[in-house]
Amino acid sequence: MGPLKTFNSHPEEWFELAQALKINYTHQDFSPLASNADPSEILKMFVESGLQGPLFKEIRDVFLIAEIPLPDGSKKILICRNMTSVYHAEEDFIRQLKIFCQKSKLALGTVVKIWINFSPCSRCSKRLMDFQASIGQRVSFRLVFAYLFMIKRPSQADQSRVSDKTHMENVKGLHQLLLMQSENTLLPFNEQECQNLAQVLGINNFPYPPARKEGDTNFEQDVVDILNNSLTL
Ligand SMILES: [Zn+2]
Repeated sequence: MGPLKTFNSHPEEWFELAQALKINYTHQDFSPLASNADPSEILKMFVESGLQGPLFKEIRDVFLIAEIPLPDGSKKILICRNMTSVYHAEEDFIRQLKIFCQKSKLALGTVVKIWINFSPCSRCSKRLMDFQASIGQRVSFRLVFAYLFMIKRPSQADQSRVSDKTHMENVKGLHQLLLMQSENTLLPFNEQECQNLAQVLGINNFPYPPARKEGDTNFEQDVVDILNNSLTL
């Protein structure tokens, strides 16, 4: 086969087609929420991601907020999100970061802080590593996630929603991603990180719900277990 590909509704394909047709298609056309979402709604999604028991909510919206320190001391904030079930927030982040890097050079050793309401899936862990490798490891990531995406939690009894294979792949992805960072920087979201993110989003007062706080100790322990132990089910 030559360069022919099947066209699909994947946003990257749209961008390419729009470019070829010289249509000025912007990110906002696909993801109005990324630029227009109420910051409080974004933060609410973080604290509600992964609530257990009767408070459990199926959350399909994934937001990724990145804070990039610039050489002049200022900070660039990127707000990224998933658009379809196959286009993940990390892909949007890498796309936006690539565009940003075309205009502004990051200092060597820049640490980009990322908050995301679900941990990266195995493919997105690889995407983040590939991006790091592509710019000569000029950046590393400090990544805070509000819940584990498709990973069995050691402290939870009912894990039937996640297959063993998916669990293993996603854990392996996180382990590899962790190895590429300059320090141990995959961290569970908590009250302090909620405050940090609120500040980045320009929210002055965001009460941290007791229901989330109650589960945080367990969540943190699960994250430590998953990241420190060798691959287990
Ligand atoms: Zn992903």
